[in-house]
Amino acid sequence: MDCIFCKIVEGVIPSTKVYEDDKILAFRDINPEAPVHVLVIPKEHVDSVDKIDETNSDLVAYIFTKIPQIAASEGLGNGYRVITNVGEDGGQSVKHMHFHILGGKKLPLHLA
Ligand code: 5GP
Ligand code: ZN
Repeated sequence: MDCIFCKIVEGVIPSTKVYEDDKILAFRDINPEAPVHVLVIPKEHVDSVDKIDETNSDLVAYIFTKIPQIAASEGLGNGYRVITNVGEDGGQSVKHMHFHILGGKKLPLHLA
């Protein structure tokens, strides 16, 4: 499958990792939109949150147990934002489910 994030999981495309275990990987966004911009992905390919159901929701729950730890290790004690874009209208450019962790400054409120 021609998926950039699967290739990052496989190590075919390099990334700056900030957290990794057997289920998930977190790495720095190549085009950061905030002082801290980390992407958290499952190692297993899932297209987006739109493909989550009762058979794989444990993966999302697991990711959300790790997000606070990753945020703390990035020094985001003053707060941060978690975003996941879904599909064309949601502005999803990489079709492998990912959660953006953004922080390190007061983020603007917008729906761009
Ligand atoms: P989306 O727009 O799908 O929600 O977010 C995809 C994100 O992946 C973008 O913020 C983009 O900068 C990032 N991205 C795309 N290709 C690469 C890559 O090869 N390496 C890294 N580290 N980030 C990437
Ligand atoms: Zn993938």
